Amino acid sequence: MLCNILHPMTMPTDTSMNSVEALEALYGSDTFGIKTMEKYLSKSAFKKMMLTIQMGGKLDMSIADEVAQAMKVWALSKGATHYTHWFQPLSDATAEKHDSFVEPDRKGGMICEFTGKNLIQAEPDASSFPSGGIRATFEARGYTAWDPTSPAFIKRTANTATLCIPTAFCSYTGEALDKKTPLLRSMAAVARQTTRVLNCFGITPSCVETNLGAEQEYFLIDRNLYLKRPDLIETGRTLFGCLPPKHQQMEDHYFGSIKERVLEFMTSVDHALWTLGVPSKTRHNEAAPGQFEIAPLFEPCNVAVDHNVMIMDVLERQALKFNLVCLLHEKPYTSVNGSGKHNNWSLSTPEMGSLFSPGKTPHSNKLFLTFLASVIQCIDKHADLLRASIAKAGNDHRLGAAEAPPAIMSIFLGDELTDIVEQIKHGGAQSSACKTTMELGVDILPELPKDTTDRNRTSPFAFTGNKFEFRAVGSSQTCAWPMTVLNTIMAETLDEVATRLEPVVGTPEFNKTLQNLLKEMLTKHDRVIFNGNGYSEEWVEEAARRGLPHIKTTLEALEVLSRPDTIELMEKYGVLSRSELLARKEIQVENFEKLIDIEAKTCLSMLHTIYMPAVGMQMQQICETVAAIRQAGLSVGLSAAVSKAEAIGALYDEIPGRITDLEQAIAAGQPEAMRFAMDAARATVDALEPLVAADLWPVPTYAEMLNIHSK
Ligand code: ADP
Ligand code: MG
Repeated sequence: MLCNILHPMTMPTDTSMNSVEALEALYGSDTFGIKTMEKYLSKSAFKKMMLTIQMGGKLDMSIADEVAQAMKVWALSKGATHYTHWFQPLSDATAEKHDSFVEPDRKGGMICEFTGKNLIQAEPDASSFPSGGIRATFEARGYTAWDPTSPAFIKRTANTATLCIPTAFCSYTGEALDKKTPLLRSMAAVARQTTRVLNCFGITPSCVETNLGAEQEYFLIDRNLYLKRPDLIETGRTLFGCLPPKHQQMEDHYFGSIKERVLEFMTSVDHALWTLGVPSKTRHNEAAPGQFEIAPLFEPCNVAVDHNVMIMDVLERQALKFNLVCLLHEKPYTSVNGSGKHNNWSLSTPEMGSLFSPGKTPHSNKLFLTFLASVIQCIDKHADLLRASIAKAGNDHRLGAAEAPPAIMSIFLGDELTDIVEQIKHGGAQSSACKTTMELGVDILPELPKDTTDRNRTSPFAFTGNKFEFRAVGSSQTCAWPMTVLNTIMAETLDEVATRLEPVVGTPEFNKTLQNLLKEMLTKHDRVIFNGNGYSEEWVEEAARRGLPHIKTTLEALEVLSRPDTIELMEKYGVLSRSELLARKEIQVENFEKLIDIEAKTCLSMLHTIYMPAVGMQMQQICETVAAIRQAGLSVGLSAAVSKAEAIGALYDEIPGRITDLEQAIAAGQPEAMRFAMDAARATVDALEPLVAADLWPVPTYAEMLNIHSK
């Protein structure tokens, strides 16, 4: 019997849904999470699952059949008819291939079947997924493997319910073809090295967690307007359009009162997410008109990555219910804010919480300072790899533009911590606060205020209390790859730290060795610390003086992926093999080139089929006016009409040249030339926009698109 279909998509958003009981019943009701497992599994199977989920232990496969049976019973009770291994191939999309539970019972009827084998592994035809040369198209086999640490969930539409099982995806030869596998490997690597460092301090953690809280920025646009913009439909961003007189300069949208239509949408998003066990927490207007943010609470990195992908999916689907379209592109509109996805990242243990917690006396908190210095070292050492992890055509437009961090990787620490870094560097130097000699491990400095940092929204990588916020990640990316890179570079530095400390553990040398090590690390790498205005031109110059890389474009950034030291790093920590890494580079380069090609062709088609005809119509109208004035023998109005025709006509005459340039760039397959030609075409059309009659302008303007009105 298929029963009890709750439809988050059509869920009423009246406040009766918001009683504590209703919310409790709603939360996670569509996930096979811990609460559900406890209810549906035997005690011993539940315990074994918990060992894997909470402690990261290897799953005892003998319970697979029981878990599958329980999952099936639960999913059927939720109205599911199908199941799918849900995975994240090497695009920014997710993939799913549905199988029904239905099997004939050989008596003309049916039974619902789902075995341990169905749960653990599937073998979808992988031939049409990007593999970056890992496998040829004729080698079709690919495998998905269940990630038991990320809860299975029910994905719904109005009349369907499908059990989604989060999985990793690999080739027949065992190479990762997805984003989850290297992420899980990087989490294991950084946990291993963190444990070694903690052991040096006499701490034995029950496990080490990598945490991620991903804030998601997005734009909403009325669907009717969206459908009139081929550029938005094809490329996710406007290729034309000039800034309206009022955009975000009044700073009246950021945190402003949320309009009713948008708030109704946000509430429906929250309900859908809570049903899926996604801990959606914060919602608000963002800086640009039409721009918003949603943030869930942080979770283990792989779960948070899955949840962020689900958030993007829910945002897009729920928006349609309100006749809106959600734009996840990094830069849908030029000259106003772009959208990012701030990745709040920390390492923690169940016993200690975040290892980036400064405590009340950070200067004497050896453990904190060790982890702090390690972050500083790894970001400085691998700034280019970190930059590559966020390389995407859309992000090229965002980074370094209106209120977005520049493509220079730097760390914001805040004055207090920077002061401590300075003191450590000058080991034994005087504390600025109390003018006494500071030595690590001696509690002589004044207590720092508990909140040791101010905020800095201009930094790509900011320390924010007990976590780091990687703000340069693009809004449409999955967090998997930037987090994989971050975990791996941190693992490398922690490995070095542990290797230096292990020989002196338990000896009187320990403190001195640690102090020297931190001094060395900070002296070498503190150039990456920058507390000033990252949006300023001065910083670009200062960063160049410091020798920090400033890699402006995606193609340039991706070069680091095939460098021998990157390959060595990824192989050393078992995160990616050489071929897996090179495949990723190849796919990203290819994606970039394909995207620019799509943009250029969309731009060309809009010039031909939308702008040329509209401007032609305007010319015709003015010419008719001129003729009419002349015929009427009037001595006034002629010069106004003629000069208008001349102004518009001069720009009109530019368009054929723009078209030729664009066609040549497309034919040559040169992304940079295509971008240049698109910019030139845009300049001409945007110069025409304020001149042409509003009723003849063929597409919605920025003013119309950026402002959300009631339906
Ligand atoms: P902001 O004020 O920077 O916009 P938000 O409240 O929107 O911050 O989001 C902050 C994010 O950081 C949330 O997802 C939150 O759960 C997450 N976060 C808080 N503490 C930690 C931590 N220790 N590790 C990782 N993420 C954290
Ligand atoms: Mg926020």
